Amino acid sequence: MKLEPYSRINQNKRNASVIWSIFIGGLFISALATFYVHQKNINEDRLRFEFEKDTYLRIFINRLESYEGALIQTRAFLLNSPSVNMQQLHQYFKDTQLFERFPGLQGLGYTMLIKPGDIPAHVQGMRKEIPAYKVWPEGERKIYSSIVVLEPPDERNRRAVGYDMFSEPIRRRAMERARDENNVAISDKVVLVQEDRNSNFPGFLMFLPHYREGADLSVLENRRKNIIGFVYAPFRAGELFKAIIPENNFDLGMDVYHGSEINPKNLMFQSHGNAPVQNVIKNAEAVQVNGSDFYFQFYTLPTFNKSASIIKNIAAFIIGMVMTLILIGVYIITRRQMDAMSIMAEEKEKLLEKEKEHVAARDDFLSIASHELKTPLTSLKLQSQVMMRSINRNDPDALSHEKVTALIKQIDNQTSRLTRLVDDMLDISRIRTGRLKMQLEEVNVTEMISDVLERLRPQFTNNGGIPVVKIEEDIIAFWDKFRIEQVLTNLLTNAIRYGNNRPVKIEVCRRNEEVIISVIDQGIGIAPENVDRIFNRFERAGMSASEVSGLGLGLFITHQIVKSHGGTINVESNLGEGSRFHIHLPILSQEQSS
Ligand code: ADP
Repeated sequence: MKLEPYSRINQNKRNASVIWSIFIGGLFISALATFYVHQKNINEDRLRFEFEKDTYLRIFINRLESYEGALIQTRAFLLNSPSVNMQQLHQYFKDTQLFERFPGLQGLGYTMLIKPGDIPAHVQGMRKEIPAYKVWPEGERKIYSSIVVLEPPDERNRRAVGYDMFSEPIRRRAMERARDENNVAISDKVVLVQEDRNSNFPGFLMFLPHYREGADLSVLENRRKNIIGFVYAPFRAGELFKAIIPENNFDLGMDVYHGSEINPKNLMFQSHGNAPVQNVIKNAEAVQVNGSDFYFQFYTLPTFNKSASIIKNIAAFIIGMVMTLILIGVYIITRRQMDAMSIMAEEKEKLLEKEKEHVAARDDFLSIASHELKTPLTSLKLQSQVMMRSINRNDPDALSHEKVTALIKQIDNQTSRLTRLVDDMLDISRIRTGRLKMQLEEVNVTEMISDVLERLRPQFTNNGGIPVVKIEEDIIAFWDKFRIEQVLTNLLTNAIRYGNNRPVKIEVCRRNEEVIISVIDQGIGIAPENVDRIFNRFERAGMSASEVSGLGLGLFITHQIVKSHGGTINVESNLGEGSRFHIHLPILSQEQSS
């Protein structure tokens, strides 16, 4: 299992909580937006409904006003021509094209008031033009009225001629109101006399009083005294209200009642039968025209395309959520980019750190190397100065055999030390540039070890004595002899330097196709934490340069040579108990070596 670093786990937790926050925030905002859109749509629907409703009412009132205008115009004609007969009135309607100019107007007529005594003369006069003319219904009344003209003169309207509207209470009430107020008055709901006997289509009438010419009408009594007739218009409610519904596809239904409340008895018009109960916007409005009340009830039809539909709300919510998801996506991408950038920055930091370490290591190395090189040089210089002074003093012993021999020995020692240092540095450079080439040859392991020991004899003599060598069997291998000797020399020199002057042991054994050479000392040992480190370049373990000289290169070069032979090196050690270095080298055959 790959372990995530603690900070990365924390970052992941932080990311998850940010994503959740965005999600919950988005959910909340989407819900709010949905609610807002819903409310807005409801308001829009309501506004549209109100607009359409007001349009209906405006058309209705406008129509009634224009009909009123038609009545006033007709009365003006009558007032201007007092001796006008019915024929001329008929002609007037024709000439003025009143019906064309007031669409929806179904009839326009004149009804005159007649005293009982004048009836015979009146009937006689009228029969000249309409032979079957009579004032109806029959019966004794204090005053009569009669429709003498009703345009257009179609079959239905002809049926009403002679009718005494004053004899019927609803009509009479409206006529009296018109008379008393000298104003247009609209009757309550009636069934027009034009209708078939069996049909009961609702209708109403509009009356405008016509007074005797020149009468003073400022007093009620005078208005009552001087009334001679009424200009009037009958309306079939069905046709009138249908005409006020605009053609451009408005989608409201409308019920109209006479009076100021909903009363089925007063129902005048229903545009779409009974109003649906569910899912509608409804509103009712009372309208008063010329003292007459109309009560309108409006409702939306299924065709009323409501904005506040559930699909629109869901769409608003989905858009909100999609935007939330996009936001989360943007966050994740940005976060990843930021993470990648911070990883890059971390890596850059590490590189810089390494660079610094390398520079510090190089500086350390330069100071150690110069110290190491200077020690033998100083020693050589001192020797030569001592010698020079002896010669200058003409000291007879100065060039004695012993002195010269000792001097040459020391010169040899110091130059060997210098050579070893320079060789190590050259090897390092070769390893770095891949130029450390192995030249394999036949090697007798026993002989090679005794050659190396022979060369190191002087050092061993001064430090713990010649090592004991334990070789299980004679082995012939194919190695780079010079380099393996270098390995042994390094290990043995270290065993002397760090061996506390105690005896050193060499053990050689063969395991299958491998030779294991162990160099064992009883010296200062290596702390466990340094065991791996000492095989690296310039690494020295717990040893200050002043105690034991060295560049920290020997074991690195040793490791590289062993590796180049396909072998391994390891060490077992405890501080203060000595160290056991083991090199495992494949024997290799001549074929493998070539
Ligand atoms: P150096 O020139 O410093 O000896 P090496 O690479 O040969 O360089 O050794 C690296 C370090 O390993 C030494 O500085 C020393 O601390 C430790 N070391 C090597 N051999 C031994 C040993 N036989 N016993 C204890 N420490 C050793």
